[in-house]
Amino acid sequence: MKGVRKTFLKMEGFFYYIYSMLQNSYIIKCPWCRTEFSNVTLSNCTNCGGTIEYQKNTHELGPKPPIAPRELPAKFVRRIKYTGNVYTMIGIIFTIPFFWSVIFPIIGIFCWRKGLKDASNELIPLQHGSIAQGEITSVEYDHSKTINGKHPLTVNFSFTVGARTYQGNVGNIFTSINQLKQAGESVWIVYMPENPDLSSVWPPMV
Ligand SMILES: [Zn+2]
Repeated sequence: MKGVRKTFLKMEGFFYYIYSMLQNSYIIKCPWCRTEFSNVTLSNCTNCGGTIEYQKNTHELGPKPPIAPRELPAKFVRRIKYTGNVYTMIGIIFTIPFFWSVIFPIIGIFCWRKGLKDASNELIPLQHGSIAQGEITSVEYDHSKTINGKHPLTVNFSFTVGARTYQGNVGNIFTSINQLKQAGESVWIVYMPENPDLSSVWPPMV
């Protein structure tokens, strides 16, 4: 009896170990709206409808992106253009409540336009870009920015079109470094053929 009990206790420890591993590895985050899921059987986010296929194993390349034009979740577009865009938000705040002053709306409209320009630079390749396979060249902390005591990460990537290699990066990432792709891993890149400097990682990194 003692032997059985001992074996059971050993197994219990092992089960807990497996269970905690499953819990840790099966939390996936929607790349479009950042909702977290523990249900890996889903292929699309129940909150915004975006694909979460690529989040099941972030160290793998995943399926080739669909051919352009690609429809992006409305919530994602809104975050990139407005709610998650510092320039647009400052622009709106400076322009609308301070419309009676002169200087604030001038600064405001300038910021608003810059915010929307940055947003379309990010959205256009995701919606209309050609597809290439790229590689992560480095993942580093951006020490020039601190938010809530933490530095965001910047992911640098490169991809080749014809005979030329282009570089790009994704900044302001607050996800834990071990949930992100690492240097040397492959990613899908979407880019504008007439200007490959306009590029994005598919799906976006969060
Ligand atoms: Zn989502």
